Amino acid sequence: MNTNELWQAVLGELELSLSKANFTTWFKQTFISEVRDHAIIVGVPNLFTKAWLEKKYSKEIMQSLQDLTNGTIKQLTYRVEARQQAPQQIIPLFDGSSQNEPPTSDGYQPRTSHEPQEIRTGEFSLNGKYCFGTFIVGKQNELAHAAAQAVCAQPGGVYNPLFIYGGVGLGKTHLLQAVGNELIRKSPQTRILYVTSERFTNDFIGALKGGRMVEFKNRYRTVDVLLVDDIQFMTGKEGTQEEFFHTFNQLYQNNKQIVISSDRPPKAIPQLESRLISRFEQGMMADVGSPDFETRVAILETKCREKTYALEHDIVHHIASVVQTNVRELEGALNKIIAFHQFKNTRATLDSVKPILSSFTPSNTRKTVTPKQLIQTVAGYFDVQIVDLLGASRQKRLAFPRQIIMYLMREEMKASYPSIGTELGGRDHTTAMHAYEKICNCLVADEKLQHDLELIKQKLYTY
Ligand code: ADP
Ligand code: MG
Repeated sequence: MNTNELWQAVLGELELSLSKANFTTWFKQTFISEVRDHAIIVGVPNLFTKAWLEKKYSKEIMQSLQDLTNGTIKQLTYRVEARQQAPQQIIPLFDGSSQNEPPTSDGYQPRTSHEPQEIRTGEFSLNGKYCFGTFIVGKQNELAHAAAQAVCAQPGGVYNPLFIYGGVGLGKTHLLQAVGNELIRKSPQTRILYVTSERFTNDFIGALKGGRMVEFKNRYRTVDVLLVDDIQFMTGKEGTQEEFFHTFNQLYQNNKQIVISSDRPPKAIPQLESRLISRFEQGMMADVGSPDFETRVAILETKCREKTYALEHDIVHHIASVVQTNVRELEGALNKIIAFHQFKNTRATLDSVKPILSSFTPSNTRKTVTPKQLIQTVAGYFDVQIVDLLGASRQKRLAFPRQIIMYLMREEMKASYPSIGTELGGRDHTTAMHAYEKICNCLVADEKLQHDLELIKQKLYTY
């Protein structure tokens, strides 16, 4: 029995149903501390987390534990304690890397430290697991992958900045970190800093408050490579954006490489300063999309090899056909299957695997979406107000999102034209019809539109 695998599987499930912030806050430093008969003790970092998990998440955790252990676990308690083992011992089945950590939503390893000397080598924030060697290339990510490799061949060269964008769980963090790991491998002296944009924001605010701006600037403006993950979270944070702008310029002028990830292209990030947008667009932009069937199979096979776990072809194919959304879910499903069978000490068969995947079946994964959620998502994507969308104005900045809503209501929800008209503030059904036809026509040739729709759908179904 491997308790770590089991806990990874539990976390994998929880992660899917929680917001990233919640997941990170409450589960980052948890682990299974002890298993005795039918009871599990989960180690947590502090009393506050303990109380919170008891109150808010016990039911879900228990459910997950029971599913995975086939009902063996009957009792769940928490205990405040620090994780004793080094991170690499946590997932013993991974190999070849010194920085293995439980999969987190962003691959970021928090090491509470502001000590500048830690920045010298980028190790402290890079996870060795995320390297090019473990990244599977398919049609949907080959451009981003090639660009990332080109950056490694010539950091600070033509692909600067490199801006990688796409939906959740599609390998953006993996690629960013792969760039860092590869550059360190090639020349260990390279100073690499990987941060999420939240981390950058918090550092900045902390430095401002604590009068540590000089330190802050030293930290960010003297690196050779700056990797900023999930830049979309800088939206609306003007002070932070300003600081980032200056950081960016300083690095750029000195031919230092910058790689950025985002859930959407720069222009589509609401409330992002236009000077930042144009900086980002100066370099190379590459998107990552959902993997197709063949790529999903390749990913599963590779992950099995990494974990030295053998699964028959038909089982791999079955998983790949059921779990279609993104790579993170694919991994989650696989971890769950491995944990389940290791725990029970049995071989995986199609019959034993199917029930485990039931929560991933397309009909379930594709949560049903209401017109209201759809309107909300599109409004958020284009950064316009819902009331304006439902209102009478025909300004282009409103008319276009409105047409997209109508198109999606028809296409995704199979709504009737009259009902679409009604949902959109009482418009005529012919308006809905025209909108649908117009978007259909544009879609044929307009790649940006195709991409917008892809991202909107990802948002719609994954959150
Ligand atoms: P994102 O940052 O886009 O949300 P991540 O980079 O965190 O996604 O990827 C989620 C998980 O899927 C990670 O464990 C990552 O290693 C894995 N993954 C994503 N894309 C690939 C790929 N092409 N090949 C192998 N693993 C991948
Ligand atoms: Mg990420």
